[in-house]
Amino acid sequence: MDQLYLRARITRKLQEVQGLLYRLTHSYQGCGHADCGVSHNIAEDLSFGSGHLDEYGFWENPCSTNAREWERRFPQDKPCWPYTEEELSKMNLGPSNIT
Ligand SMILES: [Zn+2]
Repeated sequence: MDQLYLRARITRKLQEVQGLLYRLTHSYQGCGHADCGVSHNIAEDLSFGSGHLDEYGFWENPCSTNAREWERRFPQDKPCWPYTEEELSKMNLGPSNIT
């Protein structure tokens, strides 16, 4: 099997474990909203929020409090969604790139 594929699978599994850890600790850390959860978006980044989770892994109500908290605790997972303005500009997703 392709090494890159395996690495992506392992990374995803690790993220799932971290997601579980997050949920376990969420009741006393982060934004304090019990309904806030964590998932992965289509870019394989961790995605934080509540409400409906769409097929691309984006929440109806993004939670930047938890995203920033997670980045502080696990800097290797950066960037987390909702992304900061800084990350967005790094990704070159500005309006000037839409044709
Ligand atoms: Zn929240």
